[in-house]
Amino acid sequence: MARTCVLIPGDGIGPEVCGAVVRVLEAAGADLVWERHPAGTSALEAGADTVLPESTLAAVRAHGLALKGPCTTPIGGGFASVNVALRKGLDLYAAVRPVRSLEGVETRFEDVDLVVVRENTEGLYSGIENEVTEGVVTSLKVATVRACRRIARFALDYALTRGRRKVTVFHKANIMKLSDGLFLDCAREVFRGTEVEYEERIIDAGCMQLVRDPSVFDVLLCENLYGDVVSDLCAGLVGGLGVTPGANFGESCAVFEAVHGSAPDIAGQDAANPLALLMSAVMLLNHLGEHSGGEPHRACAARIRDAYDATLRAGALTRDVGGSLGTHAFTDAIIERL
Ligand code: ATP
Repeated sequence: MARTCVLIPGDGIGPEVCGAVVRVLEAAGADLVWERHPAGTSALEAGADTVLPESTLAAVRAHGLALKGPCTTPIGGGFASVNVALRKGLDLYAAVRPVRSLEGVETRFEDVDLVVVRENTEGLYSGIENEVTEGVVTSLKVATVRACRRIARFALDYALTRGRRKVTVFHKANIMKLSDGLFLDCAREVFRGTEVEYEERIIDAGCMQLVRDPSVFDVLLCENLYGDVVSDLCAGLVGGLGVTPGANFGESCAVFEAVHGSAPDIAGQDAANPLALLMSAVMLLNHLGEHSGGEPHRACAARIRDAYDATLRAGALTRDVGGSLGTHAFTDAIIERL
């Protein structure tokens, strides 16, 4: 029976890249039924009084699965970030962002193969900010044993099930001794005695090493803000935001989305690269493929991956990675190769 997946087109380039991805998935015969729900400014335009309507959250809770385009959070006006609200509302505590070199996309490095695992629910994203007195504000960084342990366990489990050799924690515990200190303590406890190699890097030195030689790393485990920044840095190693997928996992829900934002500067111009969201959709199919009876989903994922790899190898590229194709023509080029 076809699996229902919530589709959140979002706004900016969201509807364009979502439309492209749905075309590819349908052409590849993915056994999915889409249920569309709004979020972001498109939700406000549809008459909602919030950027993340309760009906959208309820749909993801009910089906446990969503493919999401980027959503703009209006600056000011008291709206919380859609992404942060979604992650908190569904307790999507782990973000996974695989970063790999793509044949045909020319970059400084050739064999990048990294995975960023990012804690998604706390740190400086707790949203606890205060004006202490006029001209003095604070932003609170929150770390709890529960969240630090479960993200470390998630990274360990991910490494073990995917055969990854090493996990490196990026931290700044020399300065944030309590919060980053707790993150490290929990990670050490979780990895102790396991067969996965475990190491730690102070984040500034780690970033320098990443851009000099990314091959020294494998899985990077980061608290929330570091994960955000390091994900974009890693995206830059393989061709940018147009080619970097992502997934957010909780105990009972998984939401797949590209790392990039709504890119309003190129929205509506047929200029967006849909590959990052398409790669996220491949992660979604592989996720379904991990469960019993999931073989057809895995086969469909492999078909799509082979098709986009062949498209890139043939030099059919969008402008953000050095080519000349628009969103539509690039999508057609992938569909031709399915
Ligand atoms: P947000 O704050 O919502 O994360 P942002 O302003 O930090 O968004 P993005 O929207 O992610 O940044 O994009 C930054 C720039 O990268 C965009 O302005 C756009 O030019 C480019 N970009 C991002 N995603 C894509 C894509 N899929 N295809 C082509 N270019 C992209």
